[in-house]
Amino acid sequence: MNFREFGWNGLNFEIPEDARFTRFAGDAKGGSFVFESDEYLIEGKWEPIPKKRQSISVIATTLIEKMSEKYKKRGRISGQSIKVLERKDARVFTHDALFMIVKEQVDERFYLWYCDESNRIMIMRFIFKIFDETSKKIIRKVIESLICHKEGPNVWSLLNFRFEAPKDFYLTEAKIAVGRAHFVLTAKKVSSFSEMISTLIVDYYSLANVVFKDTYNNIGEWFRKNYERDLFRQLKKRKIKFISEEPKKLSTHDLLIKKGISRSGFSWRSTTLYTNLSWYCQESNRIYTVTMTSSLSKPFFLKRKTSEIEHTRHLESLLSSFKCHL
Ligand SMILES: [Zn+2]
Ligand SMILES: [Zn+2]
Repeated sequence: MNFREFGWNGLNFEIPEDARFTRFAGDAKGGSFVFESDEYLIEGKWEPIPKKRQSISVIATTLIEKMSEKYKKRGRISGQSIKVLERKDARVFTHDALFMIVKEQVDERFYLWYCDESNRIMIMRFIFKIFDETSKKIIRKVIESLICHKEGPNVWSLLNFRFEAPKDFYLTEAKIAVGRAHFVLTAKKVSSFSEMISTLIVDYYSLANVVFKDTYNNIGEWFRKNYERDLFRQLKKRKIKFISEEPKKLSTHDLLIKKGISRSGFSWRSTTLYTNLSWYCQESNRIYTVTMTSSLSKPFFLKRKTSEIEHTRHLESLLSSFKCHL
């Protein structure tokens, strides 16, 4: 069985290649996801650590109670309740954790722990149709490779591509569809006299040489015909005057780079920098288009400038970490 890297909302681990990423919600503070195959289900869940901290054992008991309630609601025969088959100490990454096996219809395996570094209660849940050697191997691989906190940027890795983004960029939008994926990460810094908002939009389109038969090998034309209007709408702008920059390379691909700037407001002024990178990746047969925006709003009497340096720095670290085919 082969495994691949998964990175999502500040959580990283190795997942079997045949696992489908089927559900997700929330952001790095609180959220969840589900991986599925015909044989198993793996769920990850996290929420902020509450001010009144309870022991992980109490969290586990609450979880079992909630399961029992659901069980009752589904109208199971009375007297048939949830059984805890095993409960023991475990380790996940650098943390003490609790492992338990709870019997509902099938056995469910849980790992629960506090990650103080990322301020989250983490819960991993494993359900297998048949629990055998392969199941053991999957759990071991997921748990042993799991990283729930780290220094430096977050690694986003799924659907055969990966990139890194600073930790203060939170997931604010995600759509995964056949032939297309769309992610928006947003960072906000607000003080009484200014507001800095940075966004990172990452889109890809699959089967590019079929879907965009006429334009996939002329990315400038592809951008104008198929993406520009959609991008303006997303950025809530009627139009942005883009200027093409000197092309750069990402691995073997030629990047089309466009830059723009917009200003608005009278007493409270905002300046926004835009950079778009678009390219065709032969290996994955995808067109990728990535947009970074940095916007600074402030009262007219403040002389502060948009941080072009920070914008460029974000862009460069994104580029150096971006892998469009694995
Ligand atoms: Zn951690
Ligand atoms: Zn590529």
